[in-house]
This record gives sequence, C-alpha cells and structure tokens, in this order.
Amino acid sequence: MSGRTRRQIGISETNCDICGTRGLPVFESRITRRGLALINPWWHQHRRTYEQCPACGMKYRLKAGRRV
Ligand SMILES: [Zn+2]
Repeated sequence: MSGRTRRQIGISETNCDICGTRGLPVFESRITRRGLALINPWWHQHRRTYEQCPACGMKYRLKAGRRV
C-alpha cells in the first residue's frame, strides 16, 4: 500500500499530448494521515495535483493549475 489517497477534483480543459483525448480528469493526491502523524502539529499532507488520461494513462503534474 502506498499510503497516499487520491480523489478526483475536476475535469481539465486540456488535451492529452499522447493520444489527443479531451477533458482529462484532475486528481488530488495526498499522504494518508495516520499513526504519529495524527498528533504531529508540523505534519504536512504534501498535496499534489495531476491530470491523468483515461485512455492511455499518461500523467501530467500540475502546479497552480498548470502543467509543469
Ligand atoms: Zn492519452
């Protein structure tokens, strides 16, 4: 198990560079908080967002809503 959880937060208006699919789902991924992290006030969830193409599986990392 990876210790990360992800959820879909929307649909992007961009196209997949590999296969041209339109409207890629946007996911937010973050570390699952458990164990000592539950009582650690400095814990950070390290959120990441990315688009993933449902057709070919290509991932595009996002930063402030833009591909990096
Ligand atoms: Zn694709």
